[in-house]
Amino acid sequence: MSDVVDSKSSLKATVPQKPSPLSKTMNKEEEPADLHIPDNYVSHVLKTTKSLPPITWSNLLNEIQWISFTAIFAFPIIGLIGASYVSLRRETLAWSIIYYFMTGLGITAGYHRLWAHRAYNAPLSTQYVLACLGAGSVQGSIKWWSRGHRAHHRYTDTELDPYNAHKGFWYAHIGWMLVKPRRKPGVADVSDLSRNPVVKWQHKHYITLLLTMAFLVPTLVAHFGWGDAKGGFVYAGVLRLVFVHHFPMDFRNAIKWYQYDPTKWTIWVLSKFGLASHLKVFPDNEVRKGQLTMQLKRLKETQDSLHWPSDSNDLPVVNWETFQKQSAKRPLVLIAGFIHDVSGFVEEHPGGAHLINKYIGKDATTAFFGGVYDHSNAAHNLLAMKRVGILNGGHPHALDDKAVPPGSRLKIARYTELNSSASYSSSTAWSDGDD
Ligand SMILES: [Zn+2]
Repeated sequence: MSDVVDSKSSLKATVPQKPSPLSKTMNKEEEPADLHIPDNYVSHVLKTTKSLPPITWSNLLNEIQWISFTAIFAFPIIGLIGASYVSLRRETLAWSIIYYFMTGLGITAGYHRLWAHRAYNAPLSTQYVLACLGAGSVQGSIKWWSRGHRAHHRYTDTELDPYNAHKGFWYAHIGWMLVKPRRKPGVADVSDLSRNPVVKWQHKHYITLLLTMAFLVPTLVAHFGWGDAKGGFVYAGVLRLVFVHHFPMDFRNAIKWYQYDPTKWTIWVLSKFGLASHLKVFPDNEVRKGQLTMQLKRLKETQDSLHWPSDSNDLPVVNWETFQKQSAKRPLVLIAGFIHDVSGFVEEHPGGAHLINKYIGKDATTAFFGGVYDHSNAAHNLLAMKRVGILNGGHPHALDDKAVPPGSRLKIARYTELNSSASYSSSTAWSDGDD
């Protein structure tokens, strides 16, 4: 209860009642949408606003976004019917593929990198071309798309992310377009775009631009080029859109120049002709840190999927008498301060059972580490899996490499695990007498 009161008062404190000096000089459109949001915005919104009820079969019809629903289902149907009447010509196929990439670049180089992320600057000429090509991809206006995309990056995987990936694959890819969002996407500032003349122009004439660029232009090019207006409409127009919506061009940012990234190459070429400038480059050192983190995450998954020897904290500490008593009941061997239960392994020992039997109830450290046979890393790793206890006074220094099996000498640990491992050598549970 007090929590709720707290969050309300903190909102009051962060929302100035008087207009701020910054907003005096701007009209409402130009003021950043996130200028007055509280510091705890996400939790505050989730706590104080209700989401719409979940989609079920009974409310489905009322919750469908009919425009995008029709577009996503109608285009494949119209396209397939059209394709059964109009045969595909080689020139039209080539034109469809070229136009797919051109309109796709409107989204990747324009909507995504230029407008949503401001990753570079472009003169008005470049902007008008990208705005038109983007309209030909039928993915909404620049302003609408960038607002959603900025909210997506800002609230990734929270309830305020318009394409929340936690809701599953289908929702993140297509579901979010088919039904009305359960929550208004989190606030994202697009006041810079509201001031941009090209963005304003495209938003105002969006439907005209869409029909022209998505259907008229591909039809006219095929008509005047090689007399195939119908093919241009069906293949470069409608079926191209089916590909755009179901196989969108990749947004991944390839880091090295030779990695497949036509968007980056295009922006680079534009910059050589003065049609793009101020390309944002992230420091290579930081890029490599990110890549290393991804690699470590994958390695950690492999590490976590394996079984590891018990930590010395988890093992009972026993004295020599207990070790002797227990050895009479089961085959125990002392190596490097650890007591190992080798039952089940004695017969499998490559050097023969007699070499192990000789050391039951005894210290085999010297014999194991080269006195009799210099065991391999794999043998040492396997031995560590058989640890059942620590001999009191016999536990060697934690950094002694005989105590740490080779497979454990280099391991990936989370930051929080590093802090807690300080207790590794300090705590010793006395559990002598445990049977
Ligand atoms: Zn992005």
